[in-house]
Amino acid sequence: MEVTVYGGASEIGGNKILLKENDARIFLDFGISFKKTSEFFEFPLLQPANIDDLLKTGLIPELRGLYRYHDHDAVYGADGPRGVLENLEERRHDAVLLSHAHMDHYGYIGLLRADIPIYLSKISKKIIELYSRAGRTEFHAKIDHLQFENLEKCSQVEVKDLRITRFDVDHSIVGASAYFIQGKKNLVYTGDFRMHGNQKHLTDEFLRQVEKEDVDYLLCEGTRVGQDKNEEAPSIEENTTSSEADVKNECIEIIESEEHLIIYDASQADLERVKILHEVAKKTGRELVIDSKKAYMILHLNEDERLMDGLPQKNDFKILLGRSKLSSNQKLYKELTKTCPGFYLETRDAGRKNHERELLDDTSISPDNFIWGPELRENLLKDSNEYILYTSNGPLLLLHCGTCRTQFSGTYIYGKAEPFNEEMEFTFNRLLKWLDLCNLKLAHAHTTGHCYPADLKDAIATINPKHVISIHTEHPLEFKNLIPTGCGLIAPGLFTPLTLN
Ligand SMILES: [Zn+2]
Repeated sequence: MEVTVYGGASEIGGNKILLKENDARIFLDFGISFKKTSEFFEFPLLQPANIDDLLKTGLIPELRGLYRYHDHDAVYGADGPRGVLENLEERRHDAVLLSHAHMDHYGYIGLLRADIPIYLSKISKKIIELYSRAGRTEFHAKIDHLQFENLEKCSQVEVKDLRITRFDVDHSIVGASAYFIQGKKNLVYTGDFRMHGNQKHLTDEFLRQVEKEDVDYLLCEGTRVGQDKNEEAPSIEENTTSSEADVKNECIEIIESEEHLIIYDASQADLERVKILHEVAKKTGRELVIDSKKAYMILHLNEDERLMDGLPQKNDFKILLGRSKLSSNQKLYKELTKTCPGFYLETRDAGRKNHERELLDDTSISPDNFIWGPELRENLLKDSNEYILYTSNGPLLLLHCGTCRTQFSGTYIYGKAEPFNEEMEFTFNRLLKWLDLCNLKLAHAHTTGHCYPADLKDAIATINPKHVISIHTEHPLEFKNLIPTGCGLIAPGLFTPLTLN
């Protein structure tokens, strides 16, 4: 058996791990490394535009029989493309095991061939499809050609000589999976997981199952390993709570002592947090206002096969549409702006696409539930003790709500990971500028989607592997304090095959 890490070694995220045994080749995740991407590219002017841009910068590995269009060549004439040559390549990879629907684990799957099955949980598939329909526009975002295979919890699939079992685990997105792979050696891939969230029982069950097995290698995530020793970064422990239940209680406490505006800022994909804020809103007598993309996810996860319980129902919350400009070549615009061309005018309907179009066309949602345009947004701020504005992009929300004459007052509850690298510090400092500008107090109510080091130590002891391969961490060697005596530690290099004896 051989493992090659093409992403996720000495970095958090970007997992692309190739597992080979005889002629079987499977990838564990196929995600985007945001850190590596930012080393070569910068939004919006320096962006990759095709697969070759990613191959030449080493953001994805140059492997045959893996990618869609890898074997296509364009032929150009003096006046443009003349044709496309296809040298049909044979498939050389058998499957992808996808751990969860975070971009750093699945973001590049759209580049893959149509004949490579992608195994995942039902809910991960749904979330990935919804994100795609909500208007991802990158060249690698197309996923319609892919062959998704739902693998039920604890069920198995055989890929050549490898037997694969999928388990549910708790993480900051629903539908997260860990995998047990049996071949000449037995290997466990944790994906991203934690032991202190609302779905803790799932991680417990996974551990109970793999505990019975003889595990030779544990590919283990270590997002939080060694982080607290980094004195340059603010302490993670300081401003974060220890469980999702604590997040709820802290939110209630903060909101009950605030008479004005409340904004809660959490990651777009964290739907468990939506459930919590739904309860917090009921408890504090406020109404949730949710951005259109998240509203779209919630409505579909509620309605299609009831994939998730406890989410707010249609008409339990207001939907904040994005700021959409009335196009300057439209008749109405021309009529209204005869004397002032270039003036900014918004629209409720025209130009709305993808998920916003679908929401507006849904006749079962009351039209009063949509908030759009400067007046309705201004009203949110006037009646500020009636709402909790739930956002994933605080600065954008603050940019859109209110005018230069608006006086804000209230509390901004930060429900995301504290910054632990330079880029995140930069983003966080930008948020602080906005809070300062808008006169908002900062509060924190968050718990991490990843295991605390002490929990990780317990999980590793339970699985009891012969070796740990430390991935999805900036401190791969710090695992030495977490593994039992006699267990080997391997800190993999990028693009370097490891033979598993
Ligand atoms: Zn994740």
